[in-house]
Amino acid sequence: MRELTNEYLEEAIEDSKPFASDGNVNMSLPTFDETMKDMLGVSIITPEKECYSAGDHKQYIPMQSTSKIIGLMLALQDFGKDRVFQAVGMEPMGDFFNSISSLEYHDTSKPFNPMINAGAIAVSALIKGQSPENRFKRYMDFLKDITDNDDLQISEEVYEAEKANGARNRALAYFMQSTGTLVTDVEEALDLYFRMNSVMMCCDDFARVGLFLARGGRSPREDEPLIPPHHLRTVKAIMMTSGMYNSSGHYAVEAGFPMKSGVSGSIIGAIPGRMGIGVIGPAIDKKGNSTAGGALVKKLSLDLGLNMFGVDRIG
Ligand code: GLU
Repeated sequence: MRELTNEYLEEAIEDSKPFASDGNVNMSLPTFDETMKDMLGVSIITPEKECYSAGDHKQYIPMQSTSKIIGLMLALQDFGKDRVFQAVGMEPMGDFFNSISSLEYHDTSKPFNPMINAGAIAVSALIKGQSPENRFKRYMDFLKDITDNDDLQISEEVYEAEKANGARNRALAYFMQSTGTLVTDVEEALDLYFRMNSVMMCCDDFARVGLFLARGGRSPREDEPLIPPHHLRTVKAIMMTSGMYNSSGHYAVEAGFPMKSGVSGSIIGAIPGRMGIGVIGPAIDKKGNSTAGGALVKKLSLDLGLNMFGVDRIG
């Protein structure tokens, strides 16, 4: 077993970087270009608030799909598990995250799970607030609390691009309206979803979200629970089974802890009671996961003994 130090993380970054060549940068994201292909950064924060980091950990990137776990936490808080899972399933899906056909041929009453686009749009429709602005403010306030970072903000450029390139997400949302899954205003649910995807974060922020999940939903500011632990169990279980797109089974076997990734190359990991992990690595594979970031989390799991199902290396 290796000791967690900044030097160890630098070494892990160097070992994992070559895997970036297996992926491609998502050019549909504003400001993303080929020069970002070899970027790789990591932060790990422990319950004692020790922070270890290495590589490009100060780089800000859009949350993209990592926002789906924040939306799910808020919807569970607002409506409880029974209501949320009336609108969305909790089963893994073998198709791509933005699949249209799976909505129709599997179960027209709800999308497979909250980690795919259709599921996350159905979940955003459940976040309470008097207006779209108020719902997004609640999302930002919650995110600022759990990351202890009041400077977090949306990238207007990314938000505009999400809207401009959002035809497929609109198709998913309007299909769900046609089947009665989405009963609130479709454009408002989509707008909140697009905004949530566009918030900029760095490795420390991603790691703090992981730590929040790992230590029972306690606010880093007040050290009070912001959300009941049973909701966090639900979120972590869904992350484990569906958080890494249609490679979630692979990551459950090879890393063995709850994670959520996004097509910006972001990954949030939560190791209950032990640490939160934040990774950025913009080169992604065809399924949407960071290739170097994926290699890195598997290495961390092995070297630091993070697999919740049992560790190989002892002592
Ligand atoms: N923003 C993109 C979408 O909604 C990507 C989300 C993701 O990271 O999977 O399709």
